[in-house]
This record gives sequence, C-alpha cells and structure tokens, in this order.
Amino acid sequence: MTTLEQLNSSAARDVPAFVKTLHGIYEHSPWIPERATRLGPFANITALKQALQGVVTAADRAEQLGLIRAHPELAGKAAIAGELTAESTGEQAKAGLNLCTPEEFATLQKLNADYNAKFGFPFILAVKGATGKGLTRQQIIATFTRRLRNQPEDELREALRQIGRIAEMRLNDLLGHTPAIGATIMEWAEEIGAWSDDEGALTCTYMTDAHRRTADQIAHWMREAGMHAHIDAVGNVVGRYLSTDPQAKTLMTGSHYDTVRNGGKYDGREGILLPIAIVKHLHEKGETLPFHFEIIAFSEEEGVRFKSTFLGSNAIIGQFDLNLLNLTDRDGVSMRDVLTQAGHDVTAIPKIARDPSDLLGYVEVHIEQGPVLLNRDLPVGIVTSIAGSSRYLVDLKGVASHAGTTPMNMRKDAAAAAAEIILYVEQRCGEDQHASLVGTVGQLQVPNGSTNVIPGACTLSLDIRAARDDVRDNAVADVLKKIEEICQRRSVDFKIEKTVSAPAAPCAGWLMQQLAAAAERAGVKPFELASGAGHDAMTIAKMTDVAMLFTRCGNGGISHNPLETMTADDAEVSAQILLDFLRNFKAKV
Ligand SMILES: [Zn+2]
Repeated sequence: MTTLEQLNSSAARDVPAFVKTLHGIYEHSPWIPERATRLGPFANITALKQALQGVVTAADRAEQLGLIRAHPELAGKAAIAGELTAESTGEQAKAGLNLCTPEEFATLQKLNADYNAKFGFPFILAVKGATGKGLTRQQIIATFTRRLRNQPEDELREALRQIGRIAEMRLNDLLGHTPAIGATIMEWAEEIGAWSDDEGALTCTYMTDAHRRTADQIAHWMREAGMHAHIDAVGNVVGRYLSTDPQAKTLMTGSHYDTVRNGGKYDGREGILLPIAIVKHLHEKGETLPFHFEIIAFSEEEGVRFKSTFLGSNAIIGQFDLNLLNLTDRDGVSMRDVLTQAGHDVTAIPKIARDPSDLLGYVEVHIEQGPVLLNRDLPVGIVTSIAGSSRYLVDLKGVASHAGTTPMNMRKDAAAAAAEIILYVEQRCGEDQHASLVGTVGQLQVPNGSTNVIPGACTLSLDIRAARDDVRDNAVADVLKKIEEICQRRSVDFKIEKTVSAPAAPCAGWLMQQLAAAAERAGVKPFELASGAGHDAMTIAKMTDVAMLFTRCGNGGISHNPLETMTADDAEVSAQILLDFLRNFKAKV
C-alpha cells in the first residue's frame, strides 16, 4: 500500500519515483504526475486529486486530446485482444463489459464508430460509476447514446472530467482510501429514492404514502445515529444530537425530503442524510459537540401537491399561514384533511416555531443543481447568497391581419415585439455578471395563432434573478423600460403583471468564513458562488444567520430530473467539511 507521506516525499525529492508510483492513474500520460509534483506537498488525497486534475485542465488542447486518445474504446477491439492496461481491464470487467450479449456488443461497436466519427476520439466513461460499484451495461449504453448528442466542445470537457473520475477511483485504490461516509449517504439516498408516488420515477409529494414512509425511515436513521427524533405537526422530521451541556444553544442544519415530479435522488435529501451520517460517525466514536446539533428534514419545499412552497421551513420560523390548510390538491382533498388523516394535529402547527435566541445559526448542504462547480473541477463551493427573483407576465396586443396582404411596415406584430424583448432580456442580464444576474423568458405563446395571420397577441413570462437585490432591481427596471420603448415603436399595447417578488437571502459572512476554512483544510480551494435556486435556507434566514455548502452536480449539472447525480467521493468531501466545520465551530460574538 502506498501512503500519502511516501508520495509527498518522492514528489519533493524523487520525481521519477513519484511518476512511477502514479503511472497507472492516467493512461500512458506520465506528464500529468510529473507536472503535479510542483504543486506538492499534498495535505490529503483530495488535494492530490485536485492538483492532478488541475494539470489536465491547464494542459493545451493537443495534450488533452493525446490523453483522451490514450484510452481504449469501451468493449472495443483492444479489450478483446487483451491489450488493455491492467487498470482498464479490471474496470471494464467490473462493469460486465466482457459479458456483453451479441446484441449489446453490436450496439457498443456501432456507438463507438459513430462517436469516433463525430468527435475524433474514443468514448470515455468512468464505468465504476458514482459509487464505485459499477454501472450496468444498460446504464453504459444509455449514457453513451445520450453523450453522442453532445456538442463537440462540451463532450471534450466531459471526457476530461470522466478521466478525472477514473483517476480519482484509481487513486482511492492506490492509497487504500474509502469514502465511507459518502458511500453511506449514497446508499441511503438510493434506498429512499425508490419510494415514489409514481411508478418508474421519483415523485415524493407532501403527505403521500411514499412521503410518510420516507419520513419514518429518516427518523429511524436519526435514532440509529444516536439522535432524539420526532415528526412534527407539518411532517418535518426533527433529530437532535444533544450536547452534554443542557444549557447549550442549537446549531441547525437540514433540507427537504419532498421532490418535484420525476425528480432526482439528491436534491434536498443530501442535506438530510449527510448530517445524519456525520452524527452516526460522531456517535460511534463517542464524540459530542459543545452545542445541540439539530437536523431538520423539511417535509415540503417544492410546492408540488398544494402549489405552496416551503411549508416545512415556514412552520419552523413560525410563519406557517394556517389559511393554507384549506388549499386542495388536484383530487380536491384539502391539506387539513391530508394532515389529519396522517395523524397530525394541525392545531399544533404554531407551536413548532423555534425561539431564535436559542439558535447559533443554520448551515445547509445541497447539491448545486447547476454546472458551475462541475466546470471548475471543484467538489464543493460556498454559497454567497440565495438569489432573489422577480417574475412578470407580459401581455402584448397588436393587430391580427392577413400575412399576405399587410406590408411589412404596416404591421403591429405582437410576436415580433416579444422576440425583441426576449433578446433584450438575454443581452441585459448577460452584461452584468458579478452578482449572478440571470434572465429567462420561459413561456411564450401566440394565442389562436395561425400560419397565415400576423400575431395579434402574444404573452410571455419573465424571470429575473440575482444574488443582490439592487442588481436585480436595476435589471428589472431596464427591462420594463425597454418593453415600453419596443411596444411604443411597434404600436403594440402591453400589460405587465408582477407575479413574484422575493428578495435575495445573503449568507452570513462569519459562517461562510468558517465553512471556507473547513473546505481549505479538506484540500479544496474555497470557491464562492450564488445560488440561483431557492432553498430552505432562504426561509430560515428570516430567523437566524445561514450559510450553504454546495456539492458538485454531475451529468452537466442537470437537476429536477432522474439524471441528477453526484459521486460518493464528493459526498465524502462535503461530509468531511461539515464535520470539520462542526468540530471547529465558533459562535458569533
Ligand atoms: Zn432542493
């Protein structure tokens, strides 16, 4: 077994020995470990992984292509002829690629040929997958088929990331490193990810059978980890890991266990399962914390069943609107009935409210749900602020007239006005990037439109978000002014209705600093990013200081989708950071 100490000492004194030890990590590419020696010594395996992959990212295009082309085809000719490196042979066999049926083999050969023709390099996939246990042949073929549709530039970067993931698992083997806490988090997410309102997809909406079963399981895991756990009147699962000091205050963490329709396994759930796994680890070592540590699995954040979001966290901050109990789902069943039938006492909801003076703060871990960390080769990032959002519905009225007889300069085309508005939103929100400003027109309709009629009406939605309220407000003001100007010039009438206005929730600097310090100690350069999506932390921020740690989201950063993914190693790094944060936590003075 190689140790990190040996590697560090050879990196400093005997570069050829270092390169030799790491020769199997990247296929036929000794230049990678060689250049990484300059970045040592490595405080831990994560720092080493980051350094090696940093060399790959910084390499020029020819070197990157050379690295990619040094890899064998999946189940390709070299595999059959037994010409693969020992590492590749083992990995391909683990995925069962040596046991392909004739049909699967033919499919893979066709995919290999199409892929090579399109991209000019072999398809690379870390076939051991997100947990290291191996993808199935069906999963491999599905991923292959999906990635064949990628743009060449995106696919080149994806190939390099897969090489990074392969190297990561080979390094784990070389150094005898097991991401044990990460593996537990992944297993638990898999287990509750199978319980769904819909067959064949993960849908876990408020107070359904799957939702209640999930809550019971979370409570069970909390108790097993040494926590006191109960399910409150809105279905939040609350676990407390008590300090030996009964007078101690409480540090809170958590996230939601409900999902969107056909959602991902980690959205929300990571932020529940990860701290439970940490507490389990502490409990097994007999270690307590100098404060009470409370994990809340929020029952509802996504707003799918009753079209009202953040039910769980609003109850915690004492702002659950009891009128919401009258809301009905699509079958006409009221929230009150749903809760009562599940055995909850709705009159107890106001009592859930926490006393802010008892709280030290709130830290939430969440999968990023976007591609920023993935594109920067970072396992985690520190959230600066949860973006506020402004949404509008815009109604444009022009004149519907004959597409053949109305000259171009005599038209009042509502859709053409909309097109101009959309392009302006894109341009305006693209020019002010320092506060993660984004603008989207996600809905666009030409009511009763037909091929031979100039659009007389057009409706569009507008969604503008930013990490800072002033940045968002300025963009909104400019867009609204531009809509007026465009409509005036085109003699189109307009009506604008504001549908949402939510302020940004900035994270607390003192908590961010402590998270950043923990990330640094874990071997990850602290990187700050804003959250474009809303999270429970946004609600809790009304009661106490909050911070968030994002975990890298795989598959191009896709979320709210079954393809949402993360790795056991990234879950492990995130867990180690939160654990270190807890052990070193200093209350705000
Ligand atoms: Zn979420």
